[in-house]
Amino acid sequence: MARIVVTGGAGFLGSHICDALIDRGDEVVAIDNLVTGSAENIEHLFANENFSFVNHDISQYVWVPGEVDAVMNFASPASPPGYLAMPIQTLKVGSLGTHNCLGLARAKGAKFMMASTSEVYGDPQVHPQTEEYWGHVNPIGPRSCYDEAKRFSEAITIAYHRYHDIPVRILRIFNTYGPRMRADDGRVVSNFVVQALSGEPITVYGDGSQTRSFCFVEDEVRGILAFLDSDETGPINIGNPGEFTISELAELVTEVVGSDSKVVYEDLPVDDPMQRKPDITKARELLGWEPKIELREGLERTIEYFRSTGIGA
Ligand code: UDP
Repeated sequence: MARIVVTGGAGFLGSHICDALIDRGDEVVAIDNLVTGSAENIEHLFANENFSFVNHDISQYVWVPGEVDAVMNFASPASPPGYLAMPIQTLKVGSLGTHNCLGLARAKGAKFMMASTSEVYGDPQVHPQTEEYWGHVNPIGPRSCYDEAKRFSEAITIAYHRYHDIPVRILRIFNTYGPRMRADDGRVVSNFVVQALSGEPITVYGDGSQTRSFCFVEDEVRGILAFLDSDETGPINIGNPGEFTISELAELVTEVVGSDSKVVYEDLPVDDPMQRKPDITKARELLGWEPKIELREGLERTIEYFRSTGIGA
């Protein structure tokens, strides 16, 4: 049993990580300032004696009393509309927040996991993306608040590893979806599912030929914990290599929902990556991990979740 701090613990991904850690008998201290996370995601854990929650912005000094074995840094707005609305907070949480969490890990002799992202590859010119690829990021574009904050977070994490010798795990997360995504989160899966369930038009940005690779949250969390428990430093891509165009996703969502929503085309956001697909050779070979849940099954489970919240009723 370990005592693990999860920042962003009330978020979509963070709350699923808290669940998985509690399920395996770990003690969890979740930290979140609830800017994009929600107490509803973790309220089922409040009665558990192995779980505690601190409402705090990690851009400010972070302290957790008692022993800590691992710090998992998952705090940040992660949806493009989310970080575009909060560019300065996003830069602060990725930079100052990561520095504070590294300081906590160092003081406690804990290992540190950084939740980085496929966005460090920017609009990639290498396909699929291997961890060796340095990326193609516009440093002053609208997405730079997220991309560059995450690139800085990787740089300071590896510097702490080299200079202070703390064990670190640099994780690059690709598009993840599933239950507990917010209906108004703005990402493509939640938008399309909510639109299809409500009989509203499906908003495809651009011509829909851009691609993404979607990983169901249960697979993603299993990969993340395999990495945490390993001795690898990374970076390691954790994502599902199944690649789909956004038009294909729109078709699949309407089909699975059984919706007659029509597609409407809207402007492609500035610097929107044209293609994205993880090379997961490292995850397979070093962690023995690969995703198991196909997009159709994952969508069925995600749609069921949104239905259970009353959407489309
Ligand atoms: N997208 C879309 N319609 C939407 C939301 C997003 O066509 O309602 C597109 C978006 O332009 C991008 C892709 O879907 O090409 C994935 O967007 P998302 O915001 O989910 O995540 P990203 O991978 O861009 O961070």
